Amino acid sequence: MSKGRIYLVGAGPGDPGLITMRGVELLSQADVIVYDYLVSTRLLDHAPLDAERIYVGKKAGQHTLSQDGINKLLVEKAQSGAIVVRLKGGDPFVFGRGGEEALEAVKAGIEFEVVPGITAGVAGPAYAGIPVTHRGLASNLGLITGHETPDKPDSDLDFEALAKWRGTLVFYMGVSNLDRICTSLREHGMDGQTPAALVRWGTTSRQRVVTGTLETIPQIASDAKIKPPALIVIGDVVQLRDQLKWFDSRPLLQRTVVVTRARTQASGLCRQLDQLGAEVIEMPAIRIARPADDQPLRDAVSNLQDFDWVVFTSANAVEAFFETLHQTGLDSRALGSNSICAIGPVTAERLASHGIHADVQPAKFLGSEIASAIDSAGGLDGKKVLCPRADIAPRDLVDDLEARGAVVQQVVAYRTEPDCSHADQVADLLGDNCLSWITFTSSSTVKNFFGAISPEQVRDSSVRLASIGPVTSATLKEFAITPDVEAKEHTVNGLVSAILDIENSEGEAL
Ligand code: SAH
Repeated sequence: MSKGRIYLVGAGPGDPGLITMRGVELLSQADVIVYDYLVSTRLLDHAPLDAERIYVGKKAGQHTLSQDGINKLLVEKAQSGAIVVRLKGGDPFVFGRGGEEALEAVKAGIEFEVVPGITAGVAGPAYAGIPVTHRGLASNLGLITGHETPDKPDSDLDFEALAKWRGTLVFYMGVSNLDRICTSLREHGMDGQTPAALVRWGTTSRQRVVTGTLETIPQIASDAKIKPPALIVIGDVVQLRDQLKWFDSRPLLQRTVVVTRARTQASGLCRQLDQLGAEVIEMPAIRIARPADDQPLRDAVSNLQDFDWVVFTSANAVEAFFETLHQTGLDSRALGSNSICAIGPVTAERLASHGIHADVQPAKFLGSEIASAIDSAGGLDGKKVLCPRADIAPRDLVDDLEARGAVVQQVVAYRTEPDCSHADQVADLLGDNCLSWITFTSSSTVKNFFGAISPEQVRDSSVRLASIGPVTSATLKEFAITPDVEAKEHTVNGLVSAILDIENSEGEAL
């Protein structure tokens, strides 16, 4: 059996984009992932589907597993030969008990590696518009645990020294001791007018920031009901927030949006929603898989000279085609003698990324329009046309091409299958009324979504539904559901605009 290893990986502060490339690489190779409360669950999507995911964070204020239990688990899994990724919020060695876990690996003779992460104490303030150091305002930075109560006789914290600190102090885990921390600093001589801030769920869609002074911040935080996880930032740099705040203006902050596209297609929509400040939950209702039998596709790509046209109807078809082409030992030059048709701008872009510029790019997704566009670009009568498509692709395109005299060979390039990962999470959030939007981008995602979640549950919750167009809305109606909004332009951009229009109009009405 291969030798197991433990990787202590920093997940970053919450925004799933803030993990390191090394962290993502290791996640993609993991057999077991042991993760915490503060880790964005979207990071788990980087791991192989069959990797074991073990949650050891808090549940209703209690740890599901003690630190000893976690140490044992890591060692046992690695001893069984597994690649174990211990995914920890922020940086593993900053108030993360990563040192203890590394020592345990040393004791057991297991190889380990540490992948640092961006610690919340730096990133949270940054997303609040607070640089933790700044020329002329703060030349040093203290990262401190706020877990220790200042009045504890054996406290490791020297409040006398901290009160004299001429720089920025960042307290982790300090919300419940906020009052005592501020009082103690003032009692030891720190100016009560020193600027102070609390950053809750920093770098995420749930981020909230309150500011005040050392004197006023305990009351302000309590009035605003700031709960953990939050950082306490104390120092003159807090003043810069007024000028430097940048994250707060995102229109979809505090909104949780479910994206139901197949994972390989979802990234564009997720990225846009992320950028707008939403918390995105990917519920890939369908997954793209290789065809059950890929011989017809292999044969077709090996004999491309037999075809006059190759018609690509989706980016998935492009990817599947090129994957098979490469596996057959060929490259883009194999398409040298073919005319190429790409349907839709995304398909054309994906082709261009493989160095192929489509000769024809029909504006409409209709079979008759596509046939007419190809016909005008060189005639279809007697021409041989290859269509690499999904297993469930309708025949109408083939019929329209054949009607103009073409000899069409449709081959299955990929298959779509249901993917129920995240369904439990979505069901829980629906039950707690914690979802703002569910987006639907095709009829098949609607059908697969309701294969995993009951329509009653959606109807009973306050969640709103956004549909990409009339065909998708009609499928929603089959489940007795009317979408709250339908995109005017039937694209991902149109869908995002439709959601923003509603959110903005409500924002103005408030
Ligand atoms: N290893 C982590 C810290 C773990 S201690 C790191 O390097 O960031 C847990 C404390 O970190 C929380 O109580 C809170 O004070 C802080 N914290 C972690 N993530 C946070 C976030 N997104 N926003 C605000 N505080 C956060």
